[in-house]
Amino acid sequence: MDEIDDDLKHNAEQLLAQPVDVEKAGNAQYYCIHCARYFIDEHALSHHYRTKVHKRRLKALELEPYTIEESERAAGLGGSYHAPQKRRIVTQLPKILTDKLEANKEASSLEADAEESDPKKLKLALEDVDMQEREAKAGLPVE
Ligand SMILES: [Zn+2]
Repeated sequence: MDEIDDDLKHNAEQLLAQPVDVEKAGNAQYYCIHCARYFIDEHALSHHYRTKVHKRRLKALELEPYTIEESERAAGLGGSYHAPQKRRIVTQLPKILTDKLEANKEASSLEADAEESDPKKLKLALEDVDMQEREAKAGLPVE
């Protein structure tokens, strides 16, 4: 867990845009940074985003881990201790998917009435992330 937390803070960019690696599932292009897992393709990854495993992981990551540094600070300077912060975690898509979404956006903005012709593909692709955000806002329990 702490390693994943570290990845999210410091290595997210690299991990979400990994060089093609034929040894890894999906050539390392479909990586879930939250679960530290590789998937074979876009379909497998978007399916994974809907699973309990992934949602549970996001929930778990919402609570900032109690670091050694913090515990030392708490021991040394009584009163400065602050409880682990609850933070908002949303699924971070690998670059291959965000690029695709960008491409969809650009393509649709070229259309004259782009805003009215609401890009369905983009909507579909974002559906999962959106769903998680709504659940987070509503505070619905993740089973
Ligand atoms: Zn995941």
